[in-house]
Amino acid sequence: MTPVVSAQRICKSFGRVEVLKGIDLEVHEREVLCLIGPSGSGKSTLLRCINHLEKIDAGRLYVDGELVGYRQRGDKLHELREKEIALQRKDIGMVFQRFNLFPHMTAVENVMEAPVQVRREPKAQARQRALELLERVGLGDKAFNYPGQLSGGQQQRVAIARALAMQPKLMLFDEPTSALDPELVGDVLGVMKQLAKDGMTMVVVTHEMQFAREVADTVLFMDGGVVVEKGPPEQVIGNPQHERTKSFLARVL
Ligand code: ADP
Ligand code: MG
Repeated sequence: MTPVVSAQRICKSFGRVEVLKGIDLEVHEREVLCLIGPSGSGKSTLLRCINHLEKIDAGRLYVDGELVGYRQRGDKLHELREKEIALQRKDIGMVFQRFNLFPHMTAVENVMEAPVQVRREPKAQARQRALELLERVGLGDKAFNYPGQLSGGQQQRVAIARALAMQPKLMLFDEPTSALDPELVGDVLGVMKQLAKDGMTMVVVTHEMQFAREVADTVLFMDGGVVVEKGPPEQVIGNPQHERTKSFLARVL
């Protein structure tokens, strides 16, 4: 079966700083991969490469069997045009630490925006689906609230519903609960847990080790732009083999 994400020896530098130094990973359909590691280890950069918000310098990166951002002719790579890149991204939902909702639109308008504007769905149909999605993230009663009238956790759940509205085959989460007050974290993690149960393929950068233990099929510990350790959570979090993993876990657990 074609993996949803396949990275082979991918490298990325910013100027002279090598941020990703040959990363390998695979995520299969319905799997959840949690990326953990200290600040600055390259986790966000790796996520951003997966939807071509950053260009890799070397290696190969495939989403759903398609080369990300490039077309191969012979042994030469040609970068795709903006339109083609947008087409690839359409199937990838991304949720950031900051929710970036449109402040002048209600929750339901935020969720239906992309389906209407990008996919040209009829408004009534998009609104119906948006309301269902808000129901699914536990915000059926907040559909007509503006972001300013919602808590951080509620806004983040709207952001998840908004990403789901494009029916992605892959969801990327970059520390989705890091900006939230502690008491609001649980609801967001709960929605993500349910999403995983429903079979969504997910790559999640998180410091929530309990979540990673419960939900991840694979945990990947990164440090200094390399994969230090990778495996099932009971192994990487429960019984880490490398000194760097151990000292990181000692700091976050
Ligand atoms: P993490 O998400 O694990 O904290 P990042 O991927 O954000 O790590 O960053 C890894 C390294 O790359 C850091 O040293 C950061 O300063 C650097 N970096 C990230 N994005 C850029 C950029 N756009 N320009 C220059 N350096 C960057
Ligand atoms: Mg980051």
